[in-house]
Amino acid sequence: MLRIGLTGGIASGKSTVSRMLRELGAPVIDADAIVHALQEPGGPAYGPIVAAFGPSVVGPDGRLDRRALARQVFADPDCRRRLEAIVHPLVAAEMERELAAYARAGRPAVVLDVPLLFEAGLDRQVDQIWVVYVDPETQVRRLRERDGLTEAEARQRLAAQWPLNEKAARAHVVIDNRGDLAATRAQVEAAWARVLEAAGRGPGGQGAGDQGDPARGGGGR
Ligand code: ADP
Repeated sequence: MLRIGLTGGIASGKSTVSRMLRELGAPVIDADAIVHALQEPGGPAYGPIVAAFGPSVVGPDGRLDRRALARQVFADPDCRRRLEAIVHPLVAAEMERELAAYARAGRPAVVLDVPLLFEAGLDRQVDQIWVVYVDPETQVRRLRERDGLTEAEARQRLAAQWPLNEKAARAHVVIDNRGDLAATRAQVEAAWARVLEAAGRGPGGQGAGDQGDPARGGGGR
């Protein structure tokens, strides 16, 4: 089963592309959704995070106040590392569980939707890397529009990640999301069709039951 790591930079359009892939029938494992579930009260990350960051990160409803946590973490790299040390191993374990389930179901390829694929070192654990790319100005503009941030806040969030052009340089597939959604959808459809084709599941393939060779789409990383 081919593992595709889908990533981008904040507000580059990764969630948009992830949604398009689901619409095409691709199995998508969503790292953010996993993180959210882990951090719910009673989830395995909740207690360690409260112990590490104190009651200021707990909201009045007893759940983690993600904005308060984000403020601490973005302001202080040490805090970020501490949070990552708690969350990353738990996310990795849940992803492996979901991957195993898709493998048992005979799926030829799975998309791992991971915002910080490179930063978390998960790029080494996938067969193909897809990066959703926009130029920095578009990124800042879409981030500000989506999250209501000031210019300075938006740039601070960008600075906490690898520059997108460095990620794109390491990608097997770059989805250029500078254009409109239709242009992006066309690229996503073509890239997913290539994966299915390589696995023998595309329009010219033998359909379900033909496993093909998923690694053929692997790009040789
Ligand atoms: P990410 O998941 O990478 O943080 P999103 O998919 O949420 O990014 O996209 C960031 C914002 O930009 C969202 O508000 C989204 O609706 C918008 N957006 C994404 N792609 C496009 C596009 N091609 N044209 C216009 N707006 C877009």
